[in-house]
Amino acid sequence: MRTMVLLKAVPDPRHWHQLRLDPETRTLIRSGVPMTINPLDRHALEEAIRLRETRGGEVIVISMAPPEAGPVLREALAFGADRAVLLSDRKFAGSDTLGTAHVLAEAVRALGGFDLVLAGDETIDGGTAQVSAQVAEFLGVANLMHVSRVEARKDRPWLVRSMNERGSILVEIAPPMVLSVVKGLNEPRYVTMMNILEAEQKDLATWTAEDLPPLEPIVGLEDSATQMADLFVPEGGQRAELLGGDPPAQARELADRLHRLGFC
Ligand SMILES: Cc1cc2nc3c(=O)[nH]c(=O)nc-3n(C[C@H](O)[C@H](O)[C@H](O)COP(=O)(O)OP(=O)(O)OC[C@H]3O[C@@H](n4cnc5c(N)ncnc54)[C@H](O)[C@@H]3O)c2cc1C
Repeated sequence: MRTMVLLKAVPDPRHWHQLRLDPETRTLIRSGVPMTINPLDRHALEEAIRLRETRGGEVIVISMAPPEAGPVLREALAFGADRAVLLSDRKFAGSDTLGTAHVLAEAVRALGGFDLVLAGDETIDGGTAQVSAQVAEFLGVANLMHVSRVEARKDRPWLVRSMNERGSILVEIAPPMVLSVVKGLNEPRYVTMMNILEAEQKDLATWTAEDLPPLEPIVGLEDSATQMADLFVPEGGQRAELLGGDPPAQARELADRLHRLGFC
């Protein structure tokens, strides 16, 4: 079985205070900020490795990111992926989600046939939750989001559970398909020192636009279908006030203030 995992390198939340906005391009300046695997993509990768452990096959990680994301992909290899492809080209920079999905889908195609493409439901930086469905659309295959359980079945459609606000639905769905996953799917494994050493021997390729078929003119900052009209950091202010006194006094003060504000 061949599984491709879409993995985004995102700014490490422990360093978010270093992030800046570029007022010209209205994009995040990520350079100099350490990157890490997008949290939900760890669950996607874990599921891909579990499926390989039970059904055999290959796990390929694909990421569109600047060259600095190399160590993040090396970490994915230590995690257990067989090989990784970093899609890195100045032509890709500034792409919106449609452009990103187009490049990712072309890379999936260029890597040959697949049974499954796994992604996270959303990222912790862009967080649009659009990319997995767009990739499925470009590839012309079925797509299911909010996936919390995957049961692969031989010669029959798979059973896949998808969460929604009221509970979940169990869907019969046949590969090839794109699934995007939620946190409850699995518990990602720990990486050992041996895994890290083994990962050094694995193939991490960097592809540019030249390695893909001619792309539609929807990639890059200029050609993206959507343009950022504004991007700003909300102004911080002293909006929080800690009430003094013991808990009963705090509760009385809070109730009194709410009453004066007309809440009760
Ligand atoms: C007008 C515009 C300009 C932008 N300019 C820039 C820019 O200059 N620089 C920049 O870094 N971002 C830019 N972005 C943001 C960029 O489009 C998104 O980061 C990217 O498309 C992914 O969207 P997302 O983070 O919302 O992914 P989501 O849809 O929330 O991600 C869902 C899943 O898709 C997969 N995925 C998403 N992105 C990738 C990826 N790159 N590689 C592999 N898998 C992925 C992951 O599995 C992820 O969990 C721009 C966005 C817009 C709208």
